[in-house]
Amino acid sequence: MRHFALAAAAVVAFGAGLAQAAPAARDAASTTGAIPAVTPTPSAPPPPWSGESGSSGDPSMTADAIRAAAENFHTCLDGLWPAAARRHISRATFLAATKDLTPDLRIMDLLDGQPEFTKSFWDYLDLLVTDARIADGRAMLEKYAKIFDAVEKHYGVDRYTLTAIWGVETNYGTLGGERPVLRSTATLSCVGRRQAYFRNEFLAALEIVQHGDVPADRLVGSWAGAFGPTQFMPTAFQKYAVDFDRDGHRDIVESVPDLLASTANNLKTDGWVKGASWGYEVVVPATFDFRLADRDRTMSIAEWAKLGIARAGGEPFPNLAARAYLLVPAGVQGPGFLMLENFRVIMKYNPAEAYALAIGHLADRLRGGGPLVQSWPRYEHVLSRAERLELQQHLVRHGFDIGEPDGQLGGRTRAAIREFQARVGQVPDGFASSAVLDRLRSH
Ligand code: CA
Repeated sequence: MRHFALAAAAVVAFGAGLAQAAPAARDAASTTGAIPAVTPTPSAPPPPWSGESGSSGDPSMTADAIRAAAENFHTCLDGLWPAAARRHISRATFLAATKDLTPDLRIMDLLDGQPEFTKSFWDYLDLLVTDARIADGRAMLEKYAKIFDAVEKHYGVDRYTLTAIWGVETNYGTLGGERPVLRSTATLSCVGRRQAYFRNEFLAALEIVQHGDVPADRLVGSWAGAFGPTQFMPTAFQKYAVDFDRDGHRDIVESVPDLLASTANNLKTDGWVKGASWGYEVVVPATFDFRLADRDRTMSIAEWAKLGIARAGGEPFPNLAARAYLLVPAGVQGPGFLMLENFRVIMKYNPAEAYALAIGHLADRLRGGGPLVQSWPRYEHVLSRAERLELQQHLVRHGFDIGEPDGQLGGRTRAAIREFQARVGQVPDGFASSAVLDRLRSH
């Protein structure tokens, strides 16, 4: 949970407890669930700030508050100097980075997201796991085979997962974003609703520049300050970046050995299980008790198999002792997935299940595996933010404790949907379909 999403043109809206809305920090996404997505073409001039209040409703995101904070920008930046000095950032580095800086207010639109961009789980996978991305990934695997050999040997993280992260985050470095990290993180340090978090990122970015790992002019990336082909936030860079080619710089922007080793080091540190998969596509019998499909319910594969869960391709499970949880993103109408420990590790890179599934599936495809066996309910209407809010309000009206309705379908909302479905005789799969909404409306 340390990287930031790219410009969130696509955000998964429902199904697996993913929240919609804010294209946000990976760090923040434990609550917002945002995922990185395809960026706009780098050559397009960025649109200006809309001048509108953010959709989060946060007081610091009103148009007036944004304008006032922007006017106060340099006073705010000056106020960060003592903290920078405590981190041994030189006055010269600090002034060079801040002297002529203006806030990039367009970021405020991106920080609060645009709910109309929400996508279904399957649309998100379609967008990220394409034939082109598979072909390009295989070319990368071939081109950098020797580096992958060395990185795999050193960190025990498989090359297909690393390549999939590279492909999903920035389409192998071609869509990494063009925003200067110092400007983005400085803006977010002084304007908007997540200033404390971003001050730490801004100071970390200054340290990177001062240390000379990545020069300031190549420290560019997403609106939130993630940079390099696998999108490290500045603080993640400090924790995980390694100088694998031993040239004295941890350069995850230009050096493929440093990039791949740093990404592998991140996964390894987060608990990657060497030689294990992320998980399996599984067939869930229609009579299955879907209440067991919960991230908090981990059982051995053997126990799942006893309950009738089988691999979608018909092959046996390789390791019956491994522990997994069951994810059923589209309920009884779609595929199920048994998620192993490495799935949780990928989710630490970005805590969104659709993201982690895209990584796992792309990795399988790069390894030579086929497409998913089962089909998604593509005929299902994807609930809009207004409909998700309405659904939650109905659940509250029916006496379910789901917290404050926020349009984000988290675990409590799914549990309430399951209970409601059970009450009215539907399969309690927790899937927020339009049928569930209709039933809630009329009930
Ligand atoms: Ca290096």
